[in-house]
Amino acid sequence: MPSAPLEAPPFECRCCGDCCRGFGGTYVSEADMARIAAFIGVDAADFRQRFCQPSGRRWVLTQAASGYCVFWDRLCTIHPVKPRMCRQWPFIRPVLRDPQNWRSMAASCPGMRSDLSEEAILSAVRSALDNGGD
Ligand code: SF4
Ligand code: SF4
Repeated sequence: MPSAPLEAPPFECRCCGDCCRGFGGTYVSEADMARIAAFIGVDAADFRQRFCQPSGRRWVLTQAASGYCVFWDRLCTIHPVKPRMCRQWPFIRPVLRDPQNWRSMAASCPGMRSDLSEEAILSAVRSALDNGGD
């Protein structure tokens, strides 16, 4: 008997970089900053001054003149230590609060499936958060 076709995962990054463009908001925590600073070999204070800017009470990564995140160069140049926000995408808590957030996010992220039921969305996000998300 032929086996059933494998279902596509809820999310598979296409590495298009669309989420790495435009100001707004790649928030970085102190832990993110320390990790990235060590990775690129600068001290934390220097890192903040050169690569971050304030957004309200928090810090975000700066944008290069290209409009992309300062660490984007046809791919994420800090991939192993990228900020928690980038690592978690799109399995984030706001989706648990309102699964419609998944659909809004999917409108601008070609890696996200937009045909999932609400139940499937919640299950995927819960499972990702349970398996190492924070
Ligand atoms: S927009 Fe989506 S598919 Fe494109 S790089 Fe970002 S996460 Fe990956
Ligand atoms: S840190 Fe990497 S994944 Fe995150 S916005 Fe910048 S280039 Fe994109």
